[in-house]
Amino acid sequence: MTYSRRKVQIKEMKNPVDFDSDISQVLPSPNKMEGREWWLWGLAVIVTLVLTLAIITLTFPDGGLLNDRVYSLNLREWARGLTALVLMFDVYTVYQHLQILKMRRQISKRDRLFLLITENAADMIAVIDRQGRRLYNSPAYYKTLGYSADELRKTSPLDQIHPDDRDRVTRAAEQVLASGCGKRLEYRIRHKDGSWCDLESTANVIRSGKGEVEGVVIVNRDITQRKRAEEMLAHNAFYDGLTSLANRTLLLDRLSRAIAMSRRHAAFKFGVLFIDVDGFKIVNDSLGHEAGDALLVRIAQRLSSCLRRADTVSRPGSRPGEQEAIIDTTLARPGGDEFVILAHELHDPSDAVRIAERLHKKLSDPFDLDSHEIVVTASVGIVFAGSSAVEPQGVLRDAEIAMYRAKTAGKARSQLFDETMHMGAVERLKLESDLRKAVERNEFLVYYQPIVALSNRRIVGFESLVRWQTSAGMVMPNDFIPLANETGIIVPINRQLFSQACQQLRCWQQMMPSDPPLFLSVNVSPKEFAQSDLASQLKYLLEESEINPRCIALEITETIAMADADRSAAVLRELKGLGVEIDIDDFGTGYSSLSRLQSFRVDTLKVDRAFVSRIDIDRETLEIVRTIVMLAHSLGLTVVAEGIETESQLDLLKKMGCERGQGYLFSKPADSRTIEQLLFSNRDTTVSDKQEMASLKD
Ligand code: C2E
Ligand code: MG
Ligand code: MG
Repeated sequence: MTYSRRKVQIKEMKNPVDFDSDISQVLPSPNKMEGREWWLWGLAVIVTLVLTLAIITLTFPDGGLLNDRVYSLNLREWARGLTALVLMFDVYTVYQHLQILKMRRQISKRDRLFLLITENAADMIAVIDRQGRRLYNSPAYYKTLGYSADELRKTSPLDQIHPDDRDRVTRAAEQVLASGCGKRLEYRIRHKDGSWCDLESTANVIRSGKGEVEGVVIVNRDITQRKRAEEMLAHNAFYDGLTSLANRTLLLDRLSRAIAMSRRHAAFKFGVLFIDVDGFKIVNDSLGHEAGDALLVRIAQRLSSCLRRADTVSRPGSRPGEQEAIIDTTLARPGGDEFVILAHELHDPSDAVRIAERLHKKLSDPFDLDSHEIVVTASVGIVFAGSSAVEPQGVLRDAEIAMYRAKTAGKARSQLFDETMHMGAVERLKLESDLRKAVERNEFLVYYQPIVALSNRRIVGFESLVRWQTSAGMVMPNDFIPLANETGIIVPINRQLFSQACQQLRCWQQMMPSDPPLFLSVNVSPKEFAQSDLASQLKYLLEESEINPRCIALEITETIAMADADRSAAVLRELKGLGVEIDIDDFGTGYSSLSRLQSFRVDTLKVDRAFVSRIDIDRETLEIVRTIVMLAHSLGLTVVAEGIETESQLDLLKKMGCERGQGYLFSKPADSRTIEQLLFSNRDTTVSDKQEMASLKD
């Protein structure tokens, strides 16, 4: 009962009447005389007057005419006694007064101290009476909330409290009044400028001498900044800083909720779309990371606008205007150029595919970035999951696998996940882990394939080719180089091999000096070419092995060179600065733009085996190769024919004027010991230049 009555009291105090933020309300001036004191002094005066009158009457009865000496003596004794009594009473009164003054000074000192503390405290201190009326608000209220004492006077404390927090504050106030001591409470209060401040408050009751509650002292601390910092930390823990989309943690959380939901309700199905921007690296490398970041933000906006604009999934057969299935979506950026959409309440995989189609369409409009028009495509992996989904990481991994499948199938497309993909991915993971172990265990070998001068079959150099020696046998490059490149494992592999091959070359150069000296061709992978410090790394390795850079040729494919032509030109310039040669490998399989390649200051063109193998059986191919050789020569490039397997191929190439070649006709790639023997026998059996010239003339 009391509980509800108090509640009413607190809610009724809308217009407090006698509120005064003056501290005198709470601390009455100690210099004011209290009623009790007036009584004391009044009594003293009355007693003194009465007794003085009594003394006079006793001393002078009948106006001093009394002659009875004995009687007169007794009266005087009485009067003396009374005088002593008056004096004692007055002395006592003065003593009491002095005591009161002393106590008052002590109280006044304590009050000044209290005042000093409350008026200067950063915390907001308030005193309210039992009815909730404000008796005192410390100046910190003004500093923190911007209200003057006058403004506070006109409002009730509840008016400024956030509507959502009012009930809590009211309940806490009731509890304080009931128990005498309040718990720590956090609530929001309106600043004068309209913003909300977070306060942390504690309350204690003031009791009268009889133990009755007279009021409540509330100490409020402004914790707005702390709250904002906490909120920011919480936000950062769950949202991506760049795009403000959900991050991986939040995505996994939502995903696990979706899985739990699908377990509870068999009909609940959801879809996960793993979106990876195609060729995002090119934007990053060519326009810089800032532009890359800006593009990611714009992509995020487009993806979310796409979801928001059509937050219904149109289903075949649903008539216009008909209520369609609402999809509750989460758009997340788990990292890099990847985005994930978690779409709820789908009916079948076609719903998820339709969302993916919308995304592709939405992304197809070019982005205008720093006056560059950028066309973005994305590869999307889709998982349609229901009650069979096991754990969030698994679902995400499956969607990623499907995305990779979409990428390898030619990018800018979607791929629905199926279980067979999982098998492939597991194998891939195993190969990746085996590759990493192989680097640690130095399981990679260098094989060398001689490159010969076609005119006299003399070995002029070698191409270094990697082999992986496993317990199960030799693994060929095509079976692991693509993955090694994708995962970046190719970088440590090639570094190991390059040092090894340089040492070997130096050894052969010393063993068999020639002019020009034997050279080494090494394959540069896309991952290596993308490294910003490739030139300085090579410089270090060349200095370490004491090899003349002119004896090294770096083979890059057209595809690598053309991926980002401007950057390639700069990188190749830097590499040429080291003194090394640049060869274009597998020419004819990529862009085949000789004029563009010329701007890269390339030295040699390696015609791909696919052409060489057909020149003796297909006239058209023969003409193509003839044109390539002619054009290359006109640009001052040397031509190497790859994969020469027959004498007839050799003859045709020689007649075209192709300078060099490599292929099984001369030697398969082999280990250093085999090549060493070959080098010796080659020197002895090489057809002399003169003989060769004669045969050419025939
Ligand atoms: P590539 O650079 O075009 O190397 C030439 C490939 O053609 C080698 O295959 C070689 O064995 C093969 N070949 C040469 N002559 C003939 C021939 O007459 N007939 C046939 N059928 N094949 C011939 P391999 O060693 O399997 O290497 C394949 C590819 O793997 C290389 O093509 C190269 O792109 C890459 N690769 C090899 N080693 C390395 C390496 O150490 N680093 C990098 N980044 N890539 C490498
Ligand atoms: Mg090569
Ligand atoms: Mg090649």
